[in-house]
Amino acid sequence: LHGTEASAQKEDSRFKGHDMLAPFTAGWQTTDVSPLIIERSEGSYVYDINGRKYLDSLAGLWCTSLGGNEPRLVEAATKQLNVLPFYHSFWNRTTRPSLELAKELLEMFTARKMGKVFFTNSGSEANDTQVKLVWYYNNALGRPDKKKFIARSKAYHGSTLISASLTGLPAMHQKFDIPAPFVLHTDCPHYWRYHLPGETEEEFSTRLAKNLEDLILKEGPETIAAFIAEPVMGAGGVIPPPATYFEKIQPVLKKYDILFIADEVICAFGRLGTMFGCDKYNIKPDLVSLAKALSSGYMAIGAVLVSPEISDVIHSQSNKLGSFAHGFTYSGHPVSCAVAIETLKIYKERNIVEQVNSISSRFQDGLKAYSDSPIVGEIRGTGLILSTEFADNKSPNDPFPPEWGVGAYFGAECQENGMLVRVAGDTIMMSPPFIISPREVDELISIYGEALKATE
Ligand code: PLP
Repeated sequence: LHGTEASAQKEDSRFKGHDMLAPFTAGWQTTDVSPLIIERSEGSYVYDINGRKYLDSLAGLWCTSLGGNEPRLVEAATKQLNVLPFYHSFWNRTTRPSLELAKELLEMFTARKMGKVFFTNSGSEANDTQVKLVWYYNNALGRPDKKKFIARSKAYHGSTLISASLTGLPAMHQKFDIPAPFVLHTDCPHYWRYHLPGETEEEFSTRLAKNLEDLILKEGPETIAAFIAEPVMGAGGVIPPPATYFEKIQPVLKKYDILFIADEVICAFGRLGTMFGCDKYNIKPDLVSLAKALSSGYMAIGAVLVSPEISDVIHSQSNKLGSFAHGFTYSGHPVSCAVAIETLKIYKERNIVEQVNSISSRFQDGLKAYSDSPIVGEIRGTGLILSTEFADNKSPNDPFPPEWGVGAYFGAECQENGMLVRVAGDTIMMSPPFIISPREVDELISIYGEALKATE
C-alpha cells in the first residue's frame, strides 16, 4: 500500500472497536471490524476513506434528496452562518429564516389548509411534539380522557421514548420498557403478507378499517385522541397502502372524532411522485410531521404542520396559561431554516415532482423485473422508494432461516460491487436521491441484479 491509501487504511484500523455508542449498530464494544467510514459525497455517490465509491441507494437515511454536493445549499448555509449563526425562537423573539420557512411550508401543503408550523430538529422530535400538541389540545377542550394514540404494527416514527412507543417494531421496544401505555397498535397494511386466501386488496382494506373501528370501540372512542400513519411505511419495510386503505380508514377516525397525524418524514417533497404523500392518497390530516428531505438532509430540521382548528385552540389556551411551554433551543434554527428554504426553492425551480415521475418507472420497472427470482418474495414500492423481501417458495409464510443471513449476504454483495443498500433482516430497502440520473438508475439495477444472482 502506498500514499493516501496506506494512510487511509491505517486510519481505518484506528477506529476498530471505536468510541461511539453507535445508533442501531450491533456488537459495538467487541467488534474487531472497523466501520465503513464515509468521507465525502458527490451527486448520488458517497466515498469512503479509502477512496472507494458507492452508489448511495438510500440517499443517506432517506434524506439527501438533492444528492451529495448541491452548491446552493452550501452557499445558503454559509451565508446564514456569516450573518446570524444562531438565534432562538422563544418568547416572541425569532429570526427571518424561520418565519419565511413557516410561510413557505403552509403555502406548499395543499392537501388541506394548515394553520401554523412548529419547528423541531428531527422527525422523532416532530412526533413527540405531535403527542404533546394533541394532549394540550384535548386538555384545553376539557377532554382529559381523550389521550390514547393508535399507531400501526411495523410503523417507524422515531426513537425518542414517545416516538419509539408509536413505532411498531418490536426491536425498538424490547428492553426499553416501552411502548408507553397510552399507545395502541393496529394492523400493518401489508397486503402480500397479511391478506386472507382469496381476499382482494379492497376487501383487505375493509377488514383493516373494521379492525380499527373494533379497537376504538373496545377502548372507548372517548379515550382515543389520534391515529398516526406514514402514507407509505418506510423503515418497517417500504409498505405502500393497499387499494382504498386510507379511503376507508379516514371515515372511521372522523366518526369518533380522532385526529389524523400524517408522518410524512420520508414521503414528503416528491419521494412518492407527488409533493406530499397526503396528495397521493387523498389524506386530509389534522397534523403533519416533516423532516429529512425538508433540508435534503444537509441540516438537522423537522417541522409539524398544525391545522387551524388545533392551532386556534392551542393559541387561546396558551394565552390563558401565559405561553405554550414546549420547544427546543434549536427550534427554527436559522441555518437549518435557510438551507430548507433554499431546498424548497430548488424543488420548485427544478420541478422535482416531475423529475421523480420521469425517472421512477425506470427505477420501479427495472427492479420489479426481478420479481421472478426464486428467492424473491415480493418487490414493492412507488415513486423513488422500493423494497425487496426475500422468502422461500415466494411465500410470506416461508421465511429463510435467519442464520442463513440472506439479506445480509445480498447487502454485502451490493457493497462489494459499489452500492449501499439498507438491510433489515431479509428486507432490502432503497430510496435514492431525487436527482438520480437514468444512467445511475441503470447502474443501480445492474448491481442489484448481480447481487441477486450471487445470492440465489
Ligand atoms: N418518522 C419516519 C416516518 C421516519 O422514517 C423517521 C426516520 O427514519 C422518523 C420519523 C424519525 O426521524 P429522525 O430520525 O429524524 O428522528
